[in-house]
Amino acid sequence: MKVHDLVIVGAGLAGMRAALAALEAHPHLDVAILSKVHPVRSHSVAAQGGINAALGEHDSWEAHAFDTAKGGQYLGDQDAIEAMCRDAPGDVLDLERLGVIFSRDEQGRIAQRPFGGAGAVRTCYAADRTGHAILHAMYEQLLKRQVFVYEEWYVTSLLVEEGRCRGVVAWDLVHGGLRAIGGKAVILATGGSGRVFLTSTNAVINTGDGMALAYRAGVPLEDMEFVQFHPTTLKGTGILITEGARGEGGYLLNTLGERFMNAYAPEQMELAPRSTVSLAIGREILEGRGMDGCVLLDLRHLGRAKIQERLPQIRQLAIEFAGVDPVESPIPVQPGAHYQMGGVPTTSWGETDLPGLYAAGECACVSVHGANRLGGNSLLETIVFGRRAGLRAAESLLGLAPRAISDQTLRAEAHRIDALMDRKGPERAWEIRDDLGRVMSRNLGIFRTKESMTEALEQVRALQGRAAHVSLQDRGRVFNTDLIHALELRSLLDVAETIVAGALAREESRGAHYRSDFPARNDRAWLKHSLARRTDHGPALSHRPVTITRFPPT
Ligand SMILES: Cc1cc2nc3c(=O)[nH]c(=O)nc-3n(C[C@H](O)[C@H](O)[C@H](O)COP(=O)(O)OP(=O)(O)OC[C@H]3O[C@@H](n4cnc5c(N)ncnc54)[C@H](O)[C@@H]3O)c2cc1C
Repeated sequence: MKVHDLVIVGAGLAGMRAALAALEAHPHLDVAILSKVHPVRSHSVAAQGGINAALGEHDSWEAHAFDTAKGGQYLGDQDAIEAMCRDAPGDVLDLERLGVIFSRDEQGRIAQRPFGGAGAVRTCYAADRTGHAILHAMYEQLLKRQVFVYEEWYVTSLLVEEGRCRGVVAWDLVHGGLRAIGGKAVILATGGSGRVFLTSTNAVINTGDGMALAYRAGVPLEDMEFVQFHPTTLKGTGILITEGARGEGGYLLNTLGERFMNAYAPEQMELAPRSTVSLAIGREILEGRGMDGCVLLDLRHLGRAKIQERLPQIRQLAIEFAGVDPVESPIPVQPGAHYQMGGVPTTSWGETDLPGLYAAGECACVSVHGANRLGGNSLLETIVFGRRAGLRAAESLLGLAPRAISDQTLRAEAHRIDALMDRKGPERAWEIRDDLGRVMSRNLGIFRTKESMTEALEQVRALQGRAAHVSLQDRGRVFNTDLIHALELRSLLDVAETIVAGALAREESRGAHYRSDFPARNDRAWLKHSLARRTDHGPALSHRPVTITRFPPT
């Protein structure tokens, strides 16, 4: 079996930043990254609007921390929030030094734009392709350091022996075949799980694999009920229309032509936190002031030149996928699943409950976003906590001798995949996946009730039953995407079950979790994190206190 010092699962921003950090500090380490797609196809590449850092003279990391804690409705752990906001300026300037081409202001400094829930102009950007700019610069650094990349390898299981994570088992998509890959430490950087929902801004690869890998290895998942619905996704497709469009001055209209945010958040208007704007749009649509399940995002007053300079991709997407040129007409938009605030619980150095296992980026729950993430804080999270996890994991393995690992997990996984390949059942993975998306979008969207979620739980369990009868149409070993979809389905179902269980239990409304039957926030009973631990009968829930340092909940 191949054994590396450090194995990183995921080649998005968190994974690549972790690899670089480990190698910057300890150049002799053998670091490997696995990714189920080519690294620059990771979802980080799709990030549009920007990354937050208090760089300006009129801003401070304390103000950034306050906005983050408040925007997350005080469910974020404030020690972690402080670490992120304090590190942000240095980490963003490091990105510039690594070669990221940020947009510039008149003085030639990194340009910043206003974003939702922020008390200062704080979001650094590269037009509306910020993720693309950062991910490509990071990949060049990875090539320069000759990090070994297992490209198009799908991790199916963690290797856990004697209470420690010692590597992974992965399927080689290109050639077919399963292999155990040892690591003295493993970092999960597998991104989000937005594809649990049908209408989602997420790439089709965002199936929550890392969360499910940890969950099945006995690590609990934290705050899974908090799924962010982005207010503005393109009608019918779920394609993201960045908050940067509102940051640049775009506004929202209902079918009466009213700027309805005036009734919901008269001070912040369109730049209120996302949960507030999504709820407002949901209400307008429910009360009949929407059109085809959408409201309108109007950019026309910005003028052609500004739209072309600051939001070129948005214009292109609207023309190609909705037949609307934002220079001439408002864009029809609707809320869609966007970001998982919960995930694998970690310390602010990426450590999980399982020795040898670290997590960073969207799959982790540090937790900095609490009940609602502010736009621009997620790219930041990948950079800051990717770096921290990389450093800490690297330090932890110095001096550890390589150790033989049994082939028990490898054999069990091989048996599971062989059985799937041989099975003759009536079910198809894609059908169950679509049904799951529909159930979750219908019953666990912006508005939730006990009835809707109870129904969802029953349906998710029924879908788990059907998933046991999935058979493949492609039984070949080489580039078998049918097999990968079937493996991903298990992750989606596991993650969905924890979302529903957490949401059903939490009898209050906070941030992205809005219950029509419990519309108020209840700090007395619910200012606490949820933890879902896997059992044979579904997730068992427990709780953990929130760390509060300088910002008492108001
Ligand atoms: C359309 C869109 C726009 C966004 N815009 C912004 C923005 O402007 N600002 C902001 O702050 N945030 C934004 N976000 C959120 C942010 O981009 C993501 O949260 C962040 O990029 C996630 O990075 P990551 O490194 O954690 O994961 P990802 O970039 O998603 O990478 C995950 C990696 O894990 C690998 N992987 C997953 N499962 C497996 C497996 N089983 N085996 C092997 N490899 C696996 C994948 O191949 C991939 O390499 C946006 C999100 C979306 C969807």
